[in-house]
Amino acid sequence: MGKSSERRRFSLKLKRQNPWSPPWMPASLRDSLNNRHHSRDFNFARSEYLRTRVLFVAIVFFLLAPLWIVVDYLLLPEEMLTNLVASRLILMALLALVIISALRNKHQLNRIRNTLALLLLLPAIFYFALVIFYSDRMISLVGYNFIPLLIIAFLSVFPLTLIESLGIGLTVIGIQFFALTELNELTTAYGGQNLGLLVIVLAISLWANHSQVSTLLRLYRQASMDSLTQLLNRGVLLEQLKQLCECRDEKLEANDIPAPITLLMFDLDKFKRINDTYGHSVGDQVLQVFAQVLRDELRNNDLIARYGGEEFIAVLPGTPKIDAIQVAERIRLQSEKATVIAHDGEAVNFTTSIGITEIRFDETLDAALNRVDARLYKAKSLGRNRYVAYDSPKQEDTYSYF
Ligand code: GH3
Ligand code: MG
Ligand code: MG
Repeated sequence: MGKSSERRRFSLKLKRQNPWSPPWMPASLRDSLNNRHHSRDFNFARSEYLRTRVLFVAIVFFLLAPLWIVVDYLLLPEEMLTNLVASRLILMALLALVIISALRNKHQLNRIRNTLALLLLLPAIFYFALVIFYSDRMISLVGYNFIPLLIIAFLSVFPLTLIESLGIGLTVIGIQFFALTELNELTTAYGGQNLGLLVIVLAISLWANHSQVSTLLRLYRQASMDSLTQLLNRGVLLEQLKQLCECRDEKLEANDIPAPITLLMFDLDKFKRINDTYGHSVGDQVLQVFAQVLRDELRNNDLIARYGGEEFIAVLPGTPKIDAIQVAERIRLQSEKATVIAHDGEAVNFTTSIGITEIRFDETLDAALNRVDARLYKAKSLGRNRYVAYDSPKQEDTYSYF
């Protein structure tokens, strides 16, 4: 029970949009290497790109598989033909499964990646089986010797990360290595050239993958980030929050125990005064420092956004309100400690008020946003630099701390 509820919580995890990266690794390479630094929203978008291409390629393969029988019919002896037609039919049945899987798994990055791996490794396995059974006649099988090269070239069509592409590419090269051993061609000029060509084409495909993923990410970030704070903008936050709630509702329908989702809404206190006293650029620096406090105090799975001028929202999936209160208190204290140095060298301090609520299962997102906004307003009216997590002090003793 404990383990499965952990898994459910894990499925709601999100990626931080501006994570730490090793200083020695160029940012664009870090982005295309694997998906550890990709946001949930970007994973959704990438899974759609992958899905449509998997569908297209699988349908083309499915249609080509029977057409090639004509070529085989003209070139191959009868006993080989029967076996090849049978294995082509099996291949087509498996390709049909790939097509069904791609149609069914919308927004499921892991499943689409597995489907893609199946799509590309199926012809590789088909090829390997041919080598095992017809090692003496492979040269006469027109078109089949190209299969490993074709698969590796096809990798360039998909916006795969380098690790994903390398995984499939090296598996195919491994299969070809064993195939060449089986054909006694490993140490011949043909074998050497063949493997060399596969490695070169894999390198070109990796370059294409890197370009695709980094271009997609750059466009995605331009459209989704607030440029001053490098946090999500309001539109993307609301979209991701909606998806998160839908994901939770699906679990609820499936009679699973849904994970809680808690909202924190922040508004910097007397911010106009900071602008008026020290200037707009110092105000901007305060916003950046506060954004950094949020990044430091929240987890990679949490969503953080600039909601308006000096208003921010954090979404804590899988965190009950009682735990979120401690997080809010930490953020409040760190904001008190943070300073920005003004032009005359003076240290500028700032504070924040915070509204907290859990999104209930039976309410709309708007209702939860209105409630958290009302609690933030309450924190302001109670004197600022505090949080409010309940609608009335009687409900719980932890109405607000200062
Ligand atoms: P309260 O404690 O009641 O929130 O007081 P406040 O002064 O913070 O009041 P209010 O929320 O109305 O003020 C927000 C101010 O934030 C007004 C606006 O000039 C300033 N602001 C909004 N966006 C930016 C920005 O990008 N940079 C800077 N420097 N200031 C901004
Ligand atoms: Mg405000
Ligand atoms: Mg304010």
